[in-house]
Amino acid sequence: MTYEVILYYNFNPIEDVEQFTKAHKKFCKELGLKGRIYISSEGINGTAGGTKEQIDAYKEYLWSLKGFENTEFKQDQCDYIPFAKLICKVREEIVSLHKDGVDPKDGGRHLQPEEWRAVMESGEDYVMIDVRNNYESKVGHFKGAILPDLENFYDFPQWLEEASIPKDKKVLMYCTGGIRCEKFSVLMKDQGWDDVNQLHGGILNYAKKEGGEHFEGKCFVFDDRLTVPVNPKDLEPIAVCEISGQPADTYLNCANMECNKLFVVCEKAAIKMEGCCSEECMKSEYKRPFDPENAFRPFRKWYNYFNDDFKQRDLQHSAADQS
Ligand SMILES: [Zn+2]
Repeated sequence: MTYEVILYYNFNPIEDVEQFTKAHKKFCKELGLKGRIYISSEGINGTAGGTKEQIDAYKEYLWSLKGFENTEFKQDQCDYIPFAKLICKVREEIVSLHKDGVDPKDGGRHLQPEEWRAVMESGEDYVMIDVRNNYESKVGHFKGAILPDLENFYDFPQWLEEASIPKDKKVLMYCTGGIRCEKFSVLMKDQGWDDVNQLHGGILNYAKKEGGEHFEGKCFVFDDRLTVPVNPKDLEPIAVCEISGQPADTYLNCANMECNKLFVVCEKAAIKMEGCCSEECMKSEYKRPFDPENAFRPFRKWYNYFNDDFKQRDLQHSAADQS
């Protein structure tokens, strides 16, 4: 059975956020949709999975809402639904830059995947910034991009202050689906960069349209798949297993739920370590069961191992909790 996975956002002001979210959640619940949807006065940012019928119905629903008629969806197939549950909630920002008054209308020039590729192949002078977190760019990125060593998107403004990128340089920026560029491009233009360009639809759109040319490794995604292939001609892992040092690009959340560290690990080491990031974690009483037959599958349902007490806790490094 094949399921559909969608990723989308739309910066369209929402007046009554609470009411909008309530109605949205009700619709999704009744539909049986799973995924994570954030709503703020800025608009909506979501990723969800379900059968083709469920996804079609959801898209129709969102398109039927005033101001959301033009919402674009990045869509992919998967042989399971890579979300454990539905989260649909109000957020301060739909993507957290921790800056007020950032209006994507003042952002950079959107480059379609073919234009992006043309610039990369033109020999033109530019600086390319990967506007994602370090654990994302580690397993895959465009060749030649600057990869800021940051754990959160809201650390980027500070990084920019120290990065000393010449203001007359042509800037190219990209992220997974395009939403982070919508904000970061505004910030760069605000601070004096003129020629700011962003990859429309992000890596996922580029993979679809241009076959991932000039991208190496895989694309990190914020669902239970954790990574997806981008360039079928270049599937060599660019990261290394944190246990064995061998090439690897598969992620696991440490099986010690108290640790839950997201780490790159090869299959052999994952089995040897029973899904844990360290020998210390292997001894933890909070270690969930490990199934060696499906070394990279247990994390799919790791939420299920949590008791209610544990769910209340703020989990660091959890891919499922990041935005
Ligand atoms: Zn651990």
